[in-house]
Amino acid sequence: MLHIYNSFTRKIEDFVPIHPPKVGLYTCGMTVYDYAHIGHGRKYVGDDVLRRILTRFGYDVTHVQNVTDVGHLASDADEGEDKMEKGAKKYGKTVWDVAKFYTDHFYTTMDSLNVLRPSVICKATEHIAEQIALIQKLVDRGHAYETPEAVYYDVTTFPGYDKLFGRQKLTEKKTAVRDSVQTGEHKKHPADFALWFKRVGRFADHAMHWDSPWGDGFPGWHIECSAMSMKYLGDSFDIHTGGIDHIPVHHPNEIAQSEGATGQPFVKYWIHYNFLRVDGKKMSKSFGNFYTVEDVIKKGIDPLALRYFYLTSQYRSELNFTWESLHAAQSALSELRIQISKLKAEKRERSALSEEKLAKVDAYRAKFDSALGNDMNTPQALAVVWELIKSNVPSQDKFDLLLDFDDVLGLKLADISEAPTEEEAPAGIQALLRKRDEFRAAKKFAESDTVRDQIVKSGYEIEDTPQGSRVKKKTI
Ligand code: AMP
Ligand code: ZN
Repeated sequence: MLHIYNSFTRKIEDFVPIHPPKVGLYTCGMTVYDYAHIGHGRKYVGDDVLRRILTRFGYDVTHVQNVTDVGHLASDADEGEDKMEKGAKKYGKTVWDVAKFYTDHFYTTMDSLNVLRPSVICKATEHIAEQIALIQKLVDRGHAYETPEAVYYDVTTFPGYDKLFGRQKLTEKKTAVRDSVQTGEHKKHPADFALWFKRVGRFADHAMHWDSPWGDGFPGWHIECSAMSMKYLGDSFDIHTGGIDHIPVHHPNEIAQSEGATGQPFVKYWIHYNFLRVDGKKMSKSFGNFYTVEDVIKKGIDPLALRYFYLTSQYRSELNFTWESLHAAQSALSELRIQISKLKAEKRERSALSEEKLAKVDAYRAKFDSALGNDMNTPQALAVVWELIKSNVPSQDKFDLLLDFDDVLGLKLADISEAPTEEEAPAGIQALLRKRDEFRAAKKFAESDTVRDQIVKSGYEIEDTPQGSRVKKKTI
């Protein structure tokens, strides 16, 4: 049985889907205006582990993820600049180029972390009609009103809006009357949020815009998640995830929009991931304190060691990033790989297991599953992995069980070759080599040369053969 902390009720609950064995899972996606960093990695590896656990527990998961490719402000009350347009200016591109470039970067980053691609990836810009239809429904049902600059959700029409997720008070930034005048807003309540922005006033030049019943403009941020999740998963579905930063505003707004429009309960379980921090501060694009997977690779560390690092903490606790801890994760992963290749190399006949050993195998499997079922306690699950390695379970069974565990851990243990030779390059160098191959395939020769230099500086040389490239330790 899977027990999971539901941040809506703030309790650990038994997981019982609405229509078993089907599970609808919606994971809030990226705002694609800058590079995905390893803070994002924590959240999306978390989603991936959740999805793999659900599959392991016998559920048939439909995983939907949005891509926020419409430019918007950090929050509706933000007087700052549109994120996407800021990104376009920074890199001298159009907003559409920016969105495409960073969407691709995000999914290749996720591939390197062995995050399974969602069943449905939906872009906000490709679901404008659905968003308009939902806003129209909210207007018709008296939850939304039009002003000269926008269509707003009237939060006073949604009973208990201010108490959702146990909020003590409205955390939406209150816009003082003076600021409202400056930004040209005519909200009835400071917490009302925009469903549709008209292309007037401060948004007169907004680059992305569409026609709507309320004139030329673009959707607010929150509406895309309500519109797309319900389109693909139905009015009520099982699990919705996000970072803890979505608890105060984005997710309450999604609930108000969806339930306001359908009159049905929106989501059964809400899951929120804690942050990856650096020196006690959230790793974030806006703080500029972030590293990307490319930075990790440049240090000779395998992206899968980063995945291992995420697994060493439970998703609801903070995780502090240091290069030392990432190196430690790399060592642990390398050790795990050595153990796997040793087990693989031991040519053995499968012998009938004694009652006692059979019971042991079952006990390890049960212990592993119970760690996962215990609110996704991945550090506990990793502890079971090491216990099993040290145990006297026969090699073949140990090997099979470790590979079975890896369906959830996602460390690609099945890809490990038999008994690595002394000269075999460490995983970090292998990862660099793969990166160089990718750059060469994409004809990015400057980048591939930079990676080659890193490999050479680390004491290895590259051989390009008709069968592909390989590295070996420099002999002189
Ligand atoms: P963004 O596109 O910046 O809104 O982020 C997309 C998702 O990644 C959100 O669910 C955030 O909560 C999450 N996220 C951003 N930074 C971090 C971090 N440092 N640690 C964990 N999750 C993060
Ligand atoms: Zn969302």
